[in-house]
Amino acid sequence: MPTVAVVGGSLGGLTAALVLRDLGCDVTVYERSSATLQARGAGIAVLDETLRYPVERLGIPAGQISSSTEWIRFLERDGTIGHEQRHHYRFSSWNTIYRTLLDALDPERYVLGREMSTFASDVDGVSVRFADGDEIRADLLVCADGINSVSRQAMLPQVAPRYAGYVAWRGVLAEADLSAASFQALHDALTYQLLPDSHILVYPIPGLDGAVDEGRRLMNIVWYRNVPEDELPALLTDRTGRPRTVSLPPGAARDEVIAEMRDFAAEHLAPPIAEVVTGIPEPFVQAVFDIDVPRMVSGRACLLGDAAFAVRPHAAAGTAKAAEDGWVLARELQRTGGDVPAALAAWEVRQLALGSGLLARTREIGDSSQFTGEFHPGDQRLIFGLHGPGR
Ligand SMILES: Cc1cc2nc3c(=O)[nH]c(=O)nc-3n(C[C@H](O)[C@H](O)[C@H](O)COP(=O)(O)OP(=O)(O)OC[C@H]3O[C@@H](n4cnc5c(N)ncnc54)[C@H](O)[C@@H]3O)c2cc1C
Repeated sequence: MPTVAVVGGSLGGLTAALVLRDLGCDVTVYERSSATLQARGAGIAVLDETLRYPVERLGIPAGQISSSTEWIRFLERDGTIGHEQRHHYRFSSWNTIYRTLLDALDPERYVLGREMSTFASDVDGVSVRFADGDEIRADLLVCADGINSVSRQAMLPQVAPRYAGYVAWRGVLAEADLSAASFQALHDALTYQLLPDSHILVYPIPGLDGAVDEGRRLMNIVWYRNVPEDELPALLTDRTGRPRTVSLPPGAARDEVIAEMRDFAAEHLAPPIAEVVTGIPEPFVQAVFDIDVPRMVSGRACLLGDAAFAVRPHAAAGTAKAAEDGWVLARELQRTGGDVPAALAAWEVRQLALGSGLLARTREIGDSSQFTGEFHPGDQRLIFGLHGPGR
């Protein structure tokens, strides 16, 4: 089996590294950050594909690393229930899944402080050059370097991220800090509120210590708000005056933008939801982008996860897609007996179809909720899924 260099050690890169290692490949992950990654407070809805490695290969019960809810509920402004339906979802946090995957990898195979600057593919292999000038060689390069991927920029310079016209405010509040009434309203559901040109989701995720029992979890929000493109730079300027292009991490948003967001929440959101939003100590914000690629392979290098397609979050399928890219790559390498070009050719056809289909679906959901007002409580398009609503 081939030697594999994985660039980017987040959920996509780690899953790919683990499934390829299990296949017998000689795999090393190179991560730009100099310390193990921290993404405080990012809750994620998790689909089966995201949990597949921990559940199938590590034997960890899904309920140990995710919280679950049994209802989808839409609240009106006054807090009454406008619509509810039974639906089982799982939620986790980026930290919980990251730690679980990282613990399964030999620490020597996860190299921190390694930023790839360029790569060059030839018939025999691929050379990867790092920012410190070092170079390594592998039979296959998996580029899992995320939404600002330098690999994609090198491979497809014509592809630019397209701003979707809105941002997501995110953050968490300890469930224990909620009033009894708000806890009761929110604890067993994925709760939505639809507003004109906006919508918000609230759901419980594991606590920072991984606790999944009620009362010890965190309540997580994702609130989509429209921001005209020319106002985005001001929003994404952090409290030190530094402009950012994609997101502001917890603690970086300026007081005045947080105050505006909290004031709007207090005035327009249902009381339990407003209580969560206004109570979040360190809300953070991410702009939503579409990235659409015509190719995912160049020679012996491939783009995986957000490095290829970055899709809007409405199907909650970003980490599932990244994981699926890794699983299918392992399957194709196995099928071809480790023939990298043959495996990549078959892989690319499938994963291009998956990525472009998901991007189209999430774009439609986002546009109808944020711009065209076609959204209604109980809209079945909203059901999360990688391959389609609920699938
Ligand atoms: C508002 C919002 C809500 C979301 N909600 C959900 C959800 O509920 N469920 C879900 O599944 N997904 C969700 N997502 C999507 C999800 O976060 C992404 O799809 C997922 O994190 C992509 O993983 P990745 O490993 O491909 O990339 P990333 O997580 O972006 O990781 C890229 C890694 O590469 C490293 N790197 C970058 N450049 C280099 C380099 N040159 N050399 C070495 N390393 C490098 C980075 O440091 C980073 O560790 C959401 C996204 C947003 C914006």
